[in-house]
Amino acid sequence: MDRTLAADLARLPELLDATRDAAAATLAALDARPVVPGAPPEGAAAATPPLPERGIGTEAALAAFTDRWAPRLSASAGPRYLGFVTGGATPAALAGDWLTAAHDQNSNSSLDGGGQDLERETVTWLRELFHLSAAHTGTFVSGATLSNTTGLAIAREWLGERLGVSPAEDGAAALGPVRVLSGAPHSSIAKALSVLGLGRAALVPVPTLPGREAVDPAALDRALADAPGRPAVVVANAGTVNTVDFDDLRAIAALRERHDFWLHTDAAFGAFAALSPAHAHLTAGLDASDSICVDLHKWLNVPYDSAVQFTRRRDLQARVFQNAAAYLGPLGENPDLVHLTPENSHRLRALAAWFTLRAYGREGHREIVERDIACARSLGESLTGDPYFTLLAPVRLNVVCFTLSQTPTAARLTALREAAGPEVFVTPTTYAGTPALRAAFSNWRTTQADVRRIAQALHTAAKELG
Ligand SMILES: *Cc1c(COP(=O)(O)O)cnc(C)c1O
Repeated sequence: MDRTLAADLARLPELLDATRDAAAATLAALDARPVVPGAPPEGAAAATPPLPERGIGTEAALAAFTDRWAPRLSASAGPRYLGFVTGGATPAALAGDWLTAAHDQNSNSSLDGGGQDLERETVTWLRELFHLSAAHTGTFVSGATLSNTTGLAIAREWLGERLGVSPAEDGAAALGPVRVLSGAPHSSIAKALSVLGLGRAALVPVPTLPGREAVDPAALDRALADAPGRPAVVVANAGTVNTVDFDDLRAIAALRERHDFWLHTDAAFGAFAALSPAHAHLTAGLDASDSICVDLHKWLNVPYDSAVQFTRRRDLQARVFQNAAAYLGPLGENPDLVHLTPENSHRLRALAAWFTLRAYGREGHREIVERDIACARSLGESLTGDPYFTLLAPVRLNVVCFTLSQTPTAARLTALREAAGPEVFVTPTTYAGTPALRAAFSNWRTTQADVRRIAQALHTAAKELG
């Protein structure tokens, strides 16, 4: 064994303790440090040292990381990182993630231990969390983009079933032209269609309701009637990223009485509305979907990367993703995970989710969701009362979409973001043609005290801007 490696092995517990101390110090500093670090000093980033010929061991590598790279990472685990839709990691989720690496499972088959069973148990809990019926099975994937891609791959096979061909066997071209209808789809839907050989051009935009990002069900009805006799795919959106608008899922599902379509619902973070009794109506009808995308590294607050893909047609899923090999198990009634996603090797990603659900339960996670919603609402109220700012949409759930009242150009918004940068991180967008900012609340640490700090930082930055 290499000398340095052997030395590390001999003092492994000590090295893990040192790593634990570094992690604890990072987390303890989250509140005080800038949310996003400033640009590195000139030249600091450019100098990549040559690949070490001889290693320095874990302790010295930890020191090098702590010195050179840790300060360049954002405080995205902290309470005032409101960019994109980004969760943190609950204590239990972090513990689960550490143990995932310690056990280092490839839980894709039933040949080597209970990893798959742990994932199935976690999926069952998630199904209950979102009020889904047992008709849905689920699989862990790396994120909502892969969850959407997997759901739409199953949709593609369903179109084949309807048309008497199998895209999995014969290629997507066997389907002829495909139509994927949606009101305000996430950008990852177009990416998924590109990956699946259906093409970005397959996406048919459907008008949304006036002043909304939710699809107009009557317009969807008409769009479906445009190609009678051809099965289609509808992507429903449960929580859009700009204004967290929800399609009327029950109204969309009801259209299946008149039209033949696969219903895929992108509920990446919107599914968590189901945890709050006051907001659960937004997800009513979710269970009727044929496939559902839910992200877990957002509002479940497990570390990157983690999402779940639910479907009512696991048989079609296995037709797409089956990986026949002499040494792998047969498909059977309950196919091994190797047959269900684009991946073959499969990290025991479910463990972090299992830990946080076991540790905090429905109650604990409901509290996180409701606190985040209350924080978003408070920031919305603060900005409404601040003459420098204008809200562009009501705060429907956990995102505040706002802009400068005076001359809201992209350049001025960038200057505002930079000035407020040490205290809060928000991301730019364009909403209804207006350059805007989004503040998305999905971290388990965020409190009303953070909201006051954020409102103050934004106010001060806007005032300086004039
Ligand atoms: C975040 C998000 C995605 C993409 O998720 P990743 O985890 O980044 O792949 C897709 N759809 C919606 C609605 C999202 O919010």
